[in-house]
Amino acid sequence: PNSKEDPMTKPINVIITFTKAGYNIRLQQKFRLTVSSLLEHSKAFVKLHILGDPESQVLGAEIIEQESKKTKNDKFELIKLDIDDVIAKLNEIVLPMQDHFSSKSGSYYSDALFFLSIAIHRILPQSYDKIIMLDSDLKFVSDIGELYKLFNEFKKENLIGIGYDLQPVYRHTFWEYRNKNPGTRVGEPKPEGLQGFNSGVLLMDLNKLRASTLYNSLLNKKSMTELTKEFLFQGHLGDQDFFTLLSMKYENLFYVLPCGWNRQLCEWWKDKGYESVWDSYFSCDTPTHIYHGNCNTQIP
Ligand code: UDP
Ligand code: MN
Repeated sequence: PNSKEDPMTKPINVIITFTKAGYNIRLQQKFRLTVSSLLEHSKAFVKLHILGDPESQVLGAEIIEQESKKTKNDKFELIKLDIDDVIAKLNEIVLPMQDHFSSKSGSYYSDALFFLSIAIHRILPQSYDKIIMLDSDLKFVSDIGELYKLFNEFKKENLIGIGYDLQPVYRHTFWEYRNKNPGTRVGEPKPEGLQGFNSGVLLMDLNKLRASTLYNSLLNKKSMTELTKEFLFQGHLGDQDFFTLLSMKYENLFYVLPCGWNRQLCEWWKDKGYESVWDSYFSCDTPTHIYHGNCNTQIP
């Protein structure tokens, strides 16, 4: 039987990456807003996993304690995930295929961390069945329990819940494929198109991911090379490129989150030649539940 997820009957597992925060006041402020707004609206018990280096861990823990007092919400447990541990495990899985997703090796986005989400089901112990992964530049205006309940909306084939990227970035990235394939849905805007994804808010069904022969067969260099060739793809962002590329061929692996659960605010692409299609990508008609201040955008 398919039991319904009820956030009030068991803790919600959440992972937030918080690294290299020591000298980064902006990052600390964004993280503070993310956890304080999360705690302010959360009714369920939350297991907050902070993934970071030791210094960032200490900072992160302090910030959470302070925001817990301010919001009078102590229904959480803080769990520290050691970054070196996680990276060592990750490297084995993702290093061989990283070059397809990085602009140049050693660059910011080629950090193994950006691949955390694609292999998280192999890193966390079996006891974890579902996890929500969050950026630390978010602001909650709704209960994270309501986000968790969206696991109940997954179709049988859906492994991952993820929102569209709300800029025409994948229209741009897939320009070559689109040129050669007039009428394709690849990179076209919602609702008919395959707009591509943003990984700031992720719902990962770990049991389904572990059990998926298809998904795990794609986590290797050969499959990825084939996919990148098929879609004439050269990306630079890591996990969200991976999910986006997969979605072009295997749409059903993904449950598309309502846009209000990852309401991105970045408008970098607006004046880069896409003015005429901008609104089709950026518009979001549903209520906002989580703001995402991506590309350092101020959150209202
Ligand atoms: N991050 C971090 N330390 C850094 C840079 C990034 O911990 O020095 C984490 C943080 O959780 C952040 C996420 O990586 O939210 C993704 O980066 P960012 O949100 O800046 O990317 P954007 O959403 O603007 O594409
Ligand atoms: Mn972000």
